[in-house]
Order: sequence, then structure tokens, then C-alpha cells
Amino acid sequence: MKRVTVLGSTGSIGRSALDVIRMHPESFQVVGLCAGSNTSLLARQSEEFKVEVLGHFSPASPLPAKKCAAVGMNAPVEVISRSAPDIVVNGISGAAGFLPSLEAVRAGAALALANKESLVIGGAFLIAEARKHGVPILPVDSEHSAVFQCLQGENAESVRRIILTASGGPFRNRPAGTFRDITPAEALAHPTWSMGRRITIDSATMMNKGLEIIEACWLFGVGLDIIEVTVHPQSIVHSMVEFKDRCTKALLSAPDMRQAIAYALSWPERLELSLEPLNLGTGLGLEFFPPDTEKFPALSVARAAMDRPETLPCIMNAADEVAIDAFLKGRLRFDGIVEVVKKTMDTLSGSTVDSPEDVMELDRQSRKAAEAILS
Ligand code: NDP
Repeated sequence: MKRVTVLGSTGSIGRSALDVIRMHPESFQVVGLCAGSNTSLLARQSEEFKVEVLGHFSPASPLPAKKCAAVGMNAPVEVISRSAPDIVVNGISGAAGFLPSLEAVRAGAALALANKESLVIGGAFLIAEARKHGVPILPVDSEHSAVFQCLQGENAESVRRIILTASGGPFRNRPAGTFRDITPAEALAHPTWSMGRRITIDSATMMNKGLEIIEACWLFGVGLDIIEVTVHPQSIVHSMVEFKDRCTKALLSAPDMRQAIAYALSWPERLELSLEPLNLGTGLGLEFFPPDTEKFPALSVARAAMDRPETLPCIMNAADEVAIDAFLKGRLRFDGIVEVVKKTMDTLSGSTVDSPEDVMELDRQSRKAAEAILS
């Protein structure tokens, strides 16, 4: 029995994680749950999985009176320390996931990491802490899970290229000249994945792939130069690794996040999952295209952010969160999102950080700067 704490349990990743656990009650016990503001779902989850240690971010929506929970910004950290998990699934969205990731590894728990922002904004600190405490960071992002699975049993020196696949989002074939007219409803309609709002808009701008390039650098300890992106609209090949003998391993499955979550939860074993198998009979029609970096400048912006890996990705991420919020509220055009990100990075390019607390301070400053640019 592994003791599992799920952060962001009410979101897309959190619900999928609980679904995997529901399929294997003999292997996992949920010992802690933390949400943002959806406390009615949190209460139902705590009843179903009989969880006592609960938390939620928003004080505006309390849990039913008989339930006691940690509340506020520190709630995920408190839930980890009180639930003593073997493994923490971090499915919080945004920079708010960073300190909980740190707390998980400091508490000696394995970290099943969906919150890519943890590595993007504070990769150096998180990797160092995980090493110090001897705990693994197990990727949940489907691309990184695929790379991780391709790397099992391989020697790091044999790797020649890591090829991250991207669906291309809903605007792959839309002319760039019409990007200014894209509405939130159009950008939220992802062709292959059903996910939270932030990552869905990031998929539409391809900033998500930019964040994933940075995530891959930290997770696999490699340079930008060996990470490539290929657009693969079918989302069946989840990523690939090419080795020095020019053999390439790929991981294929029908798109379903529960596979990557299950692998992180059960690694190094595999779990039985009754999910849709690949239907080879229909032919998979796999296609691969180079990304259009002019139409989707976020990819180059993310690569440029790695010129200063301790600060620029943090500024980029914070500005992106602010710009997406503004876009969804009708305050910013779709093609303005990456513009706001670039300007914020320029404004704060001289920043430095020496600690995880500095990272969170830089995140706050970047949000302020992005807001100022917006207004
Ligand atoms: P969702 O928006 O669906 O869920 C986010 C979760 O985080 C919700 O449970 C939300 O609570 C909770 N939350 C938000 N802010 C806080 C906070 N400050 N403290 C505690 N909890 C908070 O997002 P996704 O599940 O789609 O994504 C989560 C993370 O996983 C992101 O980093 C994303 O990039 C990554 N990811 C997601 C994939 C997917 O398929 N969805 C695929 C790969 C990576 P509530 O709903 O109660 O407000």
C-alpha cells in the first residue's frame, strides 16, 4: 500500500489520479487531498476515499462544518506535512505548485509531478532538494513520462536527441493573420486533450511546449541543444528518444493522462489499466511536422529564457499566467499573450535569485510588471 497525497485533487490531473487509485484500491491509500476553491467536490472526494487530512486555497468556500481543513496559500504544504505520504501527486496549476513540490521532496516523498511550473520556475532548487533527500521526481506530463519510459534501462551517454511531440493545438492550420480575432472559446477547444484552462490556452499559443522544453532540461539533466519539438496532431506518439546508434524509441498509446499518472504512481512496476487500446486495424495515420516558430513565437521565447535559467523562465511563466487570465477576461487579444510575456522578461531581465523564497518574490514582481504592461 502506498500512501498518496493528491494536490489539485479537484482538477483534471487530480481527478484522473483518483480514477487510477479507484482502479487499484489494493495498492494505494489516499491520505491527503488539497483543492483550490471547489470544496464541494473536495468534500465528496474525502468521503469516498475516507481522507482526514484536507486543505483548500480559497477561504471564500469553506468545507461543511464537520470537516476540518488547512486553508490558504500554505494549505498544500500543511496537507503534505500532516499526511506523511509516500508519494505526492502535484496537480496544482501554475506557480502555486512550486513550494508544495519542494515540501514533498523535503518530506522524503516521491514526487509525481504534473505541475511543470515547479521545474520551470525553480528547477535548480527542486532538483537539488530531491537529490539531497534521495527521492525521485516522476514525470506525469505525458511527453516527459514517455521520455522517462524510453530511457528506462538506457545509459544517459547514449542519448542523442529528445523529441517532444506537440499536438499543435487548435490553431495549427489557422492563418497567423487571423490570430488577433481568436476568442477564448476557440482557444479553449483543444483538439485531442481535455485539460485545465491555463494549460489549454498554453497549448493554443504553444507556450505549453516551451514550458515543457525547460521542464525536460531539468528533469533529464540535458541541454536545450538536444531537445527538439515535432508537431504530431494525432497525440498518439507521446515523445521519442533517439540514441547514438540512430535507433529511436517512442511511446505510443491512445491519449489518456491516466497512463502517465499510473506509471508515476507505480514506477518501476506497471499497473493493469482497462483503458482504450491502440487500434492498429484502422491504421494510425501518424503525421509529424516541424513547428512553425514564426506563427508560434512562444517556442523561441522559452528557449531564450534558458539564457538565464534561474530567473527568466520564472518571469516568463508568471507573465504568461497573468496574460492568459487577461485574455480569458477579454482584456487582451490572443496574439498579445506572448507580447506581454516578452516585454515582462525584458523589464526584469536583470533579476537574481538565491533561494526558493526569492523565486516566489520574483514570481510576484513579474506578475506586477505584467499587469503594468497590460494596463
Ligand atoms: P486544472 O485547472 O484542471 O486543475 C488545477 C487544480 O489545482 C485544481 O484542483 C485547483 O483547485 C487546484 N489549485 C489551483 N490553485 C491552487 C492553489 N493555490 N492551491 C491549491 N490548489 C490549487 O489544471 P490541470 O489539472 O489541467 O493541470 C494541473 C497541472 O498539471 C498544470 O501544471 C498543468 O500544466 C499540468 N498538466 C496537466 C495535464 C492535463 O492533462 N490536464 C497534462 C500535463 C500536465 P479548484 O479546481 O478546486 O479551484
